[in-house]
Amino acid sequence: MNNLFYTFAFLLFTLLKINAQNITINESLATLIQENQDTESIIAMDSLIAQIKADDIKEDLIHQTDLKLSKSIFESIHKHVFKDNDSQEKIEVALMNYYPVGVNQQMYQVAFSKKKENVESLEIIYNFLAHSESGTITFSTPLRYWTQSWKAEKISFITYHYRDKIQTERAENFAYKNMVIAKRFKTPPQSFHFYMVRNYQEILQLIGFGYHKNSIGKLRDGYGVVGDAFIFSVMNNEDFSHDIFHYYSKTKHQDKARNWVAEEGIAYSWGNAYYTNNDGEMSEQKELIDILKKHVSEHPEVDVLELFEEHFWKDTSGIYNHLAPDFKVGRLISSIICDEVKKVHGMDGINQLITSGTSPNHFEPFYRITNQLIGLNRKNFNKKVKKLMESY
Ligand SMILES: [Zn+2]
Repeated sequence: MNNLFYTFAFLLFTLLKINAQNITINESLATLIQENQDTESIIAMDSLIAQIKADDIKEDLIHQTDLKLSKSIFESIHKHVFKDNDSQEKIEVALMNYYPVGVNQQMYQVAFSKKKENVESLEIIYNFLAHSESGTITFSTPLRYWTQSWKAEKISFITYHYRDKIQTERAENFAYKNMVIAKRFKTPPQSFHFYMVRNYQEILQLIGFGYHKNSIGKLRDGYGVVGDAFIFSVMNNEDFSHDIFHYYSKTKHQDKARNWVAEEGIAYSWGNAYYTNNDGEMSEQKELIDILKKHVSEHPEVDVLELFEEHFWKDTSGIYNHLAPDFKVGRLISSIICDEVKKVHGMDGINQLITSGTSPNHFEPFYRITNQLIGLNRKNFNKKVKKLMESY
């Protein structure tokens, strides 16, 4: 009996190897899949891997619920693992684990790794949720599975998903900002699902990443707006208005035209400084301006232009160190300038700043527009910005 079984299992493994051309499966898993009569889903899984590899994901393999979210996460696997791959690198996709998680649902844990000159590097471990419904097999992220016992509350256009409780005041503030920012871009406010998570690693787990090589130790970030409708909190804070500004801006302006000195400044002004401070709150523009004003009055010789240009992408000025490690004084200074452009020229001025381009860098086109619109340039920068700061 045993021998017969092993012969059968071996035959099946051979069969699986033939059918699964894009994924390797060890023998015990192949046996398990066969015992549970899930061979069809492994074949579907193999097709999905082929589509991810080719960057050509067909919607009939994606589960209808949250389709755009799943598709965009799967596409991100292509970008990280397969895109611009060095021809000397060998990519291996291996099924590591498999288990049923509910009626007609299975979790497939897949490892993506690269090998070059005998050095192997694990890139991603991803947990695909397979659904078998009326004879078809589709895949999704495991988000709904991991959050099925969570609570939900709708505040205006935002549906918050959370374990315990949310801070309603912050949530209402964000829901309001969502409407204000949409209105400024003359677009209807969008509905979003907002998942409250403790940190970045938890976002990764919820959307399916058991491991991502680019995210080792990353903690304080959010994940942008993914699949056009999903937001994950930055360190469990209900306000995501910084990135909502970037999101609406993207719906209106071509990516390649977007000037990020302007974008970050406006995001600091209309939204917040993106990261939470030591108290778990989002720091807003006014608080950061007060600290900068104090710094300038204590150091009258300070070069504001240097603060702007040298502490924009990364801030080593130390001005906000006591609040949070990631606030950037350069972006705060940009927010003051963008406010003035909006005050004088409204959204027309703001849109000119955003679409001023990136050539030869993000600063020069920004100065070109501020000089045209409010007469602010590198030469008079210190004087003008210090004057603008006074009105806050
Ligand atoms: Zn930003």
